[in-house]
Amino acid sequence: MSNTTIFDKIISREIDADIVYEDDSALAFKDINPQAPVHLLIIPKKPIATINDIAEDDRELVGHLFVVARKIAQQHGFAKDGYRVVMNCNEDGGQSVYHIHLHLLAGQTLGWPPY
Ligand code: ADP
Repeated sequence: MSNTTIFDKIISREIDADIVYEDDSALAFKDINPQAPVHLLIIPKKPIATINDIAEDDRELVGHLFVVARKIAQQHGFAKDGYRVVMNCNEDGGQSVYHIHLHLLAGQTLGWPPY
């Protein structure tokens, strides 16, 4: 399945993003339309369209996204106050970019539930 999205263009630097973290398999950058004082997106460099497309072999990679979230939270100083990570799936989940991404939200007390 072809899965070229705007996030591939951010990975390849075809379009600009405010990148806050990068390693061999993941990238994190500021969301262009922030929904909290801190709103970052953490993505795998491998293009996986949705949670439904995560394979058994992707376990380590997907787990790594949470490790990156934890590192960023500690480095940016909001780990103790708290934060939220969210991954939306398909239309009812509110997904609009079909390359999996963890939203990392912080900087205020976040409301719940999300409707
Ligand atoms: P939604 O758009 O409903 O939040 P997603 O969960 O798929 O759905 O999230 C995609 C996110 O990507 C959005 O928060 C959006 O603001 C962000 N986004 C889209 N294009 C860019 C971009 N070029 N740079 C940074 N963030 C982007």
